[in-house]
Amino acid sequence: MPIVAVAVGGRGLVPLDRPVVHADDEALLRGRAAFETVRVYGGRAFGLDEHLARLAESAARLGLPALETPDFRELADEAIAGAGLADAVLRLFHTPGREGRGRATALALVATLPPGLEELRGRGLRLVSLQTGIDPSARASAPWLLGGVKSTSYAVNMAAAAEAARRGADDAVLLATGDTVLEGPTANVWWRRERTLYTPGLETGILAGVTRALLLERAESLGYHTLEGVFGLADLCAAEEAFTSSSVREVMPVSELDGVAVPRGPASTELQEALRAAATA
Ligand code: PLP
Repeated sequence: MPIVAVAVGGRGLVPLDRPVVHADDEALLRGRAAFETVRVYGGRAFGLDEHLARLAESAARLGLPALETPDFRELADEAIAGAGLADAVLRLFHTPGREGRGRATALALVATLPPGLEELRGRGLRLVSLQTGIDPSARASAPWLLGGVKSTSYAVNMAAAAEAARRGADDAVLLATGDTVLEGPTANVWWRRERTLYTPGLETGILAGVTRALLLERAESLGYHTLEGVFGLADLCAAEEAFTSSSVREVMPVSELDGVAVPRGPASTELQEALRAAATA
């Protein structure tokens, strides 16, 4: 996703070839920074309040120093205006700054949407399950494991996505011990049996997706019950339909799991339409 605009706290829009973080920023040295990925529809960042709340929570959990110019809203507006794209991806970063100096940096980057999203939605995602060895109950009682924090330490998530690609799939479903279903590397996971939609509960330490929250809210009015909890891979395998949710890819139907076809169904289409209606209202 090529970046088309960059705005920096206290500096505003900067040319793309201008340095914006120091080489010894802890975001780079240790992967210690908070970030958000937001989808822009018609020049507006959708769900920005919810993303900013999660960004602030992640920064607090990571113990990042406060920003001197904390207005991410203004920064996002500058970057979106500078990009001049109606539909795009906005990324926000709160980095701790130079090691030992503690002066935080705020960044807003706008990039083009990844190509092929609608084609992928049409054919559905081929997923493979990958075991992480994470113990969800340990993660719940050990806040230093940063369950639910959106930090820039995403190398493990990217390695899982790469492993999925190596196995000929589009994405991964991450499992915890006991084959508990967690989430995708960059998405929440859902499935349906009859009129009930299942999605892993936040107590498993997954990310509280902004899209997930919106879908949970809308599902009832579309006639679905929702059940959040601790579910095994066998539950997902017995699904009548499955899909993922995230800000960038929105609702993506699943067509295959571990080489076995997953039936297509109405819920992913109905929820995708509800999400689009909310995003473009
Ligand atoms: N889970 C993980 C690990 C993610 O990285 C993301 C988004 O990047 C999501 C879930 C979906 O969250 P959202 O709907 O807020 O984009």
